[in-house]
Amino acid sequence: MNECLLSFDIEDWFQAHNLQEAIPRSSWDRYELHVEKNTDKILKILDRYDTKATFFILGWIAEKVPDMVKKIDAEGHEIACHGYDHSLLSEMDIEKIKKDIQRSKGILSQLTTQPIKGYRAPSFTINDDVTKILKKLSFEYDSSFYKIAAHDRYGRLSNHSNETIYDLSNGLTEAQMPTLKIFKSEIPWAGGGYFRFIPYPIFKLGIEKILKEQDFIFYLHPWELDTNQPKHFDIRMGYRIRHYTNLKRTEDKLEKLIRDFDWKPIGDMI
Ligand SMILES: [Zn+2]
Repeated sequence: MNECLLSFDIEDWFQAHNLQEAIPRSSWDRYELHVEKNTDKILKILDRYDTKATFFILGWIAEKVPDMVKKIDAEGHEIACHGYDHSLLSEMDIEKIKKDIQRSKGILSQLTTQPIKGYRAPSFTINDDVTKILKKLSFEYDSSFYKIAAHDRYGRLSNHSNETIYDLSNGLTEAQMPTLKIFKSEIPWAGGGYFRFIPYPIFKLGIEKILKEQDFIFYLHPWELDTNQPKHFDIRMGYRIRHYTNLKRTEDKLEKLIRDFDWKPIGDMI
């Protein structure tokens, strides 16, 4: 039977790439953190349905709220790496990428009792060279790849598969993000903004269709449940829509999703 794998990318509202035009990294320290409160909402839902998930956490966040990382670990979830400060891999040279991943893995390793096996690239900007670095840094899997070029930011890998979980030629495992074929187009069907835009019954049907053929991976950010986040409208229209649409409904939708399927952390399948 195909499996449902649940993941959360732990970053705060002001770290989303959509807001970068309005909020540069250098000003992050000025903003109040909402990440603990919103991650708590997720943890409570998971607890209610006795469900475990993978948490890809930014090193920057782990430094600010180490007790939150310890709590996620203590509640039996998988801790995994989302890089240090959400710099896109496409904007860094390879040495810088290596340092970023090493640094964030080091921070997380000190806060958990489990080995850090998984990595998710900021904004899914993965590439072949980074998978080699991940292998060298003793990661077991990456979960950053959409096999379709559906988004201006998403990265590419040269090894493809129809399976959700498959081996790359360098020995690393890829847990790729699912897409759904609707008529002639493939649409990312993994969560995030798409989960907020698409009505829940339709999203659920899409998951059921994917599960007939392969495992399904879901992801969401804690800021997507945060209706109280400060609003920054001085960003381009596309980003505004991507960031702020349907925040109010996401918590209820997430609860339904967790109730309606049996979930596991990604690391359980590697
Ligand atoms: Zn992210």
